[in-house]
Amino acid sequence: MKKIEEYVRSIPDFPEEGIIFRDVTSILQDADGLHLAIDELQKTLEGLDFDVVVGPESRGFIFGVPIAYNLHKAFVPVRKKGKLPCETVELEYDLEYGSAVIEMHKDAVRPGQRVVIIDDLIATGGTIEAIIKLVEQLGGEVVKISFLMELAGLNGREKLKGYNVESVICYE
Ligand code: IMP
Repeated sequence: MKKIEEYVRSIPDFPEEGIIFRDVTSILQDADGLHLAIDELQKTLEGLDFDVVVGPESRGFIFGVPIAYNLHKAFVPVRKKGKLPCETVELEYDLEYGSAVIEMHKDAVRPGQRVVIIDDLIATGGTIEAIIKLVEQLGGEVVKISFLMELAGLNGREKLKGYNVESVICYE
């Protein structure tokens, strides 16, 4: 059986020179790769007591929903500004170039709920740091953050100090 790393296509100089882009679509387009990715990510939650999976648009949806479904937990999407129809909390955070605003519905996480955040990849950690702030603003407790891939050289974990963070594959 192939290892999950073998399904990841690495593209040099995308989206710009010097960056090696780790392509998730090459995992998803193979039935075995998709299965393995979900299974391996789900394993990071083994034995954990939690209520809600939170996943950011858009690749956090791909991995977060099947795991929430398998474990019979709720799923809460984090979206770019302007997409959610009801009352939201929002946060602006810095990207490598410029900034972004993300939103969650105000009633999506209730005070005291135990939250797991799932995304495909951690780079600088800025996205997840912002999501943690929103979840905590709503009174949720972030009990685990799981990624399929980690770009360790970008030190994203530094921003998530004090949280339980795990990634399936780590690139230096
Ligand atoms: P961060 O906020 O810098 O940690 O960026 C994380 C987000 O950027 C993830 O949700 C990814 O979707 C995206 N991203 C950054 N680098 C890559 C890459 O090499 N492959 C795929 N997605 C990436």
